[in-house]
Amino acid sequence: MENKKKQTVYIAYGSNMGNWEEVKEKVFLLIENSVGSIIQKSKTYQTPAWGKTDQPDFKNGIIKINTELSPQSCLLALQNIENQLGRIRTEKWGPRIIDLDIIDFDGLVFSTHELILPHPYAHKRQFVLEPLADIAPNLMLPNCSKSVSKILNSFEDKVVLKILE
Ligand code: ADP
Ligand code: MG
Repeated sequence: MENKKKQTVYIAYGSNMGNWEEVKEKVFLLIENSVGSIIQKSKTYQTPAWGKTDQPDFKNGIIKINTELSPQSCLLALQNIENQLGRIRTEKWGPRIIDLDIIDFDGLVFSTHELILPHPYAHKRQFVLEPLADIAPNLMLPNCSKSVSKILNSFEDKVVLKILE
């Protein structure tokens, strides 16, 4: 029998439309059902929109999961969840009910047109680093010479993020 390896994956979530309490419950349930078991959850942070700033604040956080899926299948499953929750892709970096990004897939370095691992902006975004440091302060993202907490500590444009829960 094939012995599939359980891989550790960090997923970033972001939402700035809809009722967050409801969205959050659905997202976590759908991830458990179609992506993998949730091992740990960060706190959720309220963060100002990044890239395109004239839109509501985001709720951002990180979950750590175990999955047997390939990176490509994992991305597809996450995109299905985004679609099921009614995400419509209009403008780049515009408002969204839910955005699910793969930050790190078991330390894999990988790049295709559809999927870049680790996520290319992870180490540049406080709203990724801060929740990631809640659950994996010592994680070394591939291609980074410093741990997550060290990158966060030396982050230049750091702001105080409101903790929601
Ligand atoms: P963004 O997350 O940049 O705000 P989207 O969610 O619309 O915008 O993603 C744009 C594209 O990024 C997706 O279609 C997906 O193929 C690609 N992508 C590349 N690497 C990743 C990754 N690590 N996690 C999630 N999506 C990724
Ligand atoms: Mg995305």
